[in-house]
Amino acid sequence: MTMRFRTLADTLEALEPVTSRLQLVAILAEMLGQAQPEEVRELVYLSQGRLLPDFIQKEFGMNERLIFRSVAQAYGAPHEDVQARFKQLGDAGLVAQEFAETSGNVGEALPLTEVYERLMKITETVGSGSQEGKVTRLADLLKCLDPLEAKHATRIVVGRLRVGIGDPTLMEALSSAKAGNKSLRPVIERAYNLTSDLGLVAATLYKDGTEGLETLRVKVGNPVRMALAERANSTEEIVARLGRCAIEPKFDGFRIQIHKDGDQVSMFSRGLEDLTGMFPDVKEAILKQISAPQAILEGEALAYDPESGQYQPFQVTSQRRRIHNIDEMRQSLPLRLMAFDMLLHDGVDLTRQPYTERRTVLESAISKHAGFGGIEPSQVLYSDDPEEIILFFEDSLTEGLEGIMAKRLDGVYDAGKRGFNWIKMKRSYQTLLRDTVDCVIVGYYYGKGQRAKWGVGSLLVAVYDRANDTFATVTRVASGLSEEGWQDLYKRLHSEEIQHPDPRVRYVLKPDVWVVPHYVVELQADEVSRSQMHAAGKEEGQAGYALRFPRIVHERPERKPEDATSVEEVIELFNMQGKGDTRGKRKAATPETAAGETGTE
Ligand code: ATP
Repeated sequence: MTMRFRTLADTLEALEPVTSRLQLVAILAEMLGQAQPEEVRELVYLSQGRLLPDFIQKEFGMNERLIFRSVAQAYGAPHEDVQARFKQLGDAGLVAQEFAETSGNVGEALPLTEVYERLMKITETVGSGSQEGKVTRLADLLKCLDPLEAKHATRIVVGRLRVGIGDPTLMEALSSAKAGNKSLRPVIERAYNLTSDLGLVAATLYKDGTEGLETLRVKVGNPVRMALAERANSTEEIVARLGRCAIEPKFDGFRIQIHKDGDQVSMFSRGLEDLTGMFPDVKEAILKQISAPQAILEGEALAYDPESGQYQPFQVTSQRRRIHNIDEMRQSLPLRLMAFDMLLHDGVDLTRQPYTERRTVLESAISKHAGFGGIEPSQVLYSDDPEEIILFFEDSLTEGLEGIMAKRLDGVYDAGKRGFNWIKMKRSYQTLLRDTVDCVIVGYYYGKGQRAKWGVGSLLVAVYDRANDTFATVTRVASGLSEEGWQDLYKRLHSEEIQHPDPRVRYVLKPDVWVVPHYVVELQADEVSRSQMHAAGKEEGQAGYALRFPRIVHERPERKPEDATSVEEVIELFNMQGKGDTRGKRKAATPETAAGETGTE
């Protein structure tokens, strides 16, 4: 039977008060179990509050003012009344629901796919007079919906579903809907890691079963979820794990995945955000230096100083993201792409090929470029000698780079996974933790005195527990932002407030206010300690792990909550503490600057 939009609205409604993740999965599985193959794609997108996979930006382009006009038009209410009610309720969904109730709207029990189509039409209404068109389209849709449907449809348009359904939870629910347990999760996840499109994965699973999923391949235009690296403390450890391996410099730039399809070039960030417009110089270089009609490659884009030819640190490279005048930036901060992997070449999916094979293709696929700029394969050293690798490591630091990346010679490209096929070794920070930790904000405290005026005094933050798709608190952080920074963050957190902890959050300490896990901040801390006050890595009756003396380095708007540092990594950082210097047996020839993330030695 064709699914009604009401089924989704009922599900979202049922999820709202839920505080346990198991229940979240069970309710979603119940809904997904009712979907037909030809509607599950739309259902998956809509349950995450979107119309297409995350990497395709589709904006409704309706601000609150336009939405109020739609509500007023749909229910024949004065615009001012709608606006006034919004001031009181603070949620456009609740406002639409209330006006629908008052007007006695019973709806037409629309199929889910029809609501999807009509929402899509709103995003496609562009050009002159489009605002009017959008308002009327949404009003016409609201007229056909009952109050509960109106509430959730409106929330989708505003972009605030208020129920955060993460990809892993949805994958587990899909497995549960199809197999009654978690057994399909690995094959679903693999297909998702290759295509980044959970709607496509669900539709394939429903139509062609797991065999269908096995045949999904990386595809030009669909970002591949990026492979991530584990850490090591010494070159001995690297060699013990990998034996003879490939050592590349670890560039401190901007990771981009580039898709070339004829003369079309698209680029994605690590969080699979579309960056195409931001790097016209990289696009030109790709068209010039790669002749294969189709390719997917990855590299680190680095800004350099045209005067000295020296690489710039990340903080400088990242200005490209903020500054609008890209053309001007091309002159003052030209980029070079250090390519380090080839995922697809000439139509052939290379992700299951060993590193050595991918590297050979990478090197032969990129033609030479005169002068600085352009694309170039990263340098590489093949070695199983810890001493030789140390020298390479030190050379990298001298060039102002971050350290090295060691790669397993027979390692596949492990899409979406953090594993020991790639191992990073960075400079040590002596008294500081060896790495920063990306945390997601799950709540905040009001603070006292001056802080109270800013709205927020400190944040309760969590790391990601990959095994069960939850966020486990790891510290409370109160420093690192400017006054404006705190005030600005408060405004954003305020609109993410929820009455109870999100079902995916595990905690001991409670904040004054819970928020939807959404914003990611990068923290530097002095150490990881065992603590009863936080949930990260906490087993029944035992202490968890916490960050001591944390401060915010910066916000990471490009990161999703699930991209936060994992609990396992925090435990790994704990275990690395006090285990000697990164440089292994050879002591540092030159002293390191403790805060010298950007400094060359
Ligand atoms: P991660 O990406 O592992 O979650 P992160 O974003 O904090 O962590 P790092 O820990 O600094 O980054 O290291 C991993 C990153 O290093 C990669 O995501 C990539 O952007 C970058 N990188 C630099 N040089 C290389 C290289 N030669 N090969 C692979 N990655 C590299």
